Amino acid sequence: MDYDIAIIGLGPAGATLARLLDSKFNIIALDKKLTCGTDGFNKPCGGLLATDAQRSFIRFNLNLPTDILTNPQIFSVKTYDLQTHLVRNYQRTYINFDRHKFDLWLKSLIPSQVDVRNNTLCKNIERIIDGYQITFEENGQHKVVTAKYVVGADGANSMVRRMRYPNHTLRQYIAIQQWFEEKHPVPFYSCIFDNKSTNCYAWSISKDNHFIFGGAFPKKEANLKFEQLKQKLEQNGFIFGTPVKTEKCPVVYPQRWRDFHVGNERIFLIGEAAGFISASSLEGISYAFDSAEILSNILNRDIKNPNKAYYQRTIKLRLKLLGKIVKAKLITTPILRRLIMKSNISHIANVE
Ligand SMILES: Cc1cc2nc3c(=O)[nH]c(=O)nc-3n(C[C@H](O)[C@H](O)[C@H](O)COP(=O)(O)OP(=O)(O)OC[C@H]3O[C@@H](n4cnc5c(N)ncnc54)[C@H](O)[C@@H]3O)c2cc1C
Repeated sequence: MDYDIAIIGLGPAGATLARLLDSKFNIIALDKKLTCGTDGFNKPCGGLLATDAQRSFIRFNLNLPTDILTNPQIFSVKTYDLQTHLVRNYQRTYINFDRHKFDLWLKSLIPSQVDVRNNTLCKNIERIIDGYQITFEENGQHKVVTAKYVVGADGANSMVRRMRYPNHTLRQYIAIQQWFEEKHPVPFYSCIFDNKSTNCYAWSISKDNHFIFGGAFPKKEANLKFEQLKQKLEQNGFIFGTPVKTEKCPVVYPQRWRDFHVGNERIFLIGEAAGFISASSLEGISYAFDSAEILSNILNRDIKNPNKAYYQRTIKLRLKLLGKIVKAKLITTPILRRLIMKSNISHIANVE
C-alpha cells in the first residue's frame, strides 16, 4: 500500500481528522479547494458557528482567529411563518464567520507529514486486496494511489458514499443562496417557514455588508420556488436588489435512522458524507468535528475492528441527529409551528 489512510475531502470533517490522526500513519488527503484565495471550490454556507461546534473548539484547545470573523455579530434569529404571518425573535449565540477562510484555516492546521493534494478531484475508488485503489486528477494529471483505509469526508454529494452504498438514495435538497448588497437599516438573521415554497426552510444572514438569502428546496422547481419566496418576503420588508453572487449545492436532509451511513470494509464516512447534519437547522459543522474526533480516537488506538468501533461510538451522535429529525418534523408542520410561535416561549420582543 502507498498509504495507510486516504482522506477524500478537507472540509471541517476531513481537515479535523487529518489534524488529529497520529504521526505514525502515512496519510494522503485529496481536496478540491486551492490553498489560498477565493478561486476554485468554495463551499456555499451560512457561515454560522453554533454552540455545539464552539464546544468542539474547547475540546480541541483551539481559538478562532479574528480575521475569520465577519461583521456584525448578531444575537437573535427573526423567525417568520408566512402561513400565519407570525414573527418571533429567538436568542442565538452563533458566531458569524467567513466560511471559505474558515475552511482554509482548518486546512492550514494539518501537520506537514500529511500528504495534502489541493485542487484535486477524486474520480474513483476501487476495492483491491487489503485496501483500495484511488484514482484522482491533480492539476489536470491522472494519478492512482493505494491505501489500506479510505475516509469519505467529501460532503453532501459524497462519491465515497455513492460507491460504498450504490443502492441507497439519501434525501437531498438543493440549497440556493444569493448575495446582495446589504440595504437593511439594522442587519439581522432570519429563519423563514413557508410550506408552499419548501417543506424545509429558508434563511437570511448579514455578513460584511452583504445580505445573504438562502433556502433548501425540493429539487423539482427549486429555482422557481426560490424566486417566488423572494417576492413574498419583499412584502415582509426584505430588501433584495440585484444579486452579486448566486450559489447552489445539494444539502443532505436525513429523514430516518438508516439515512446515516458510517461505512464498512475499511471505508469510513464522516461529516455530511455520513448524513451527519441537523435536519432542523441544517447545522453540520459540529457533527463534522464530532465524527472526525471519534474516528481519530479509534484509528489512533489501532482498535481491532475499527469499522465496528466507529459504528458503535457514533450511536450517540446519530441519536442526537434523530432528535433533530423529530424537531424538524415539529417545526415544519404548520399547526404545531403555529402553536409554538403563538405561545411566545423564548420570544424576545424588540423595544418599540
Ligand atoms: C447553503 C448551506 C448553508 C449552511 N450553513 C451552515 C451554517 O451556517 N453552519 C453550519 O454549521 N452548517 C451549515 N451548513 C452545513 C455545513 O456546511 C456542512 O454540514 C459541513 O460543511 C459539512 O462538513 P464536511 O467536512 O462533512 O463536508 P464539506 O464541508 O462539504 O467538505 C467536503 C470537502 O470535500 C471536498 N471534495 C468533495 N468532493 C471531492 C472530490 N471528489 N475530490 C476531492 N475533494 C472533494 C471539497 O473540497 C469540500 O470542501 C450549511 C449547508 C449549506 C448547503
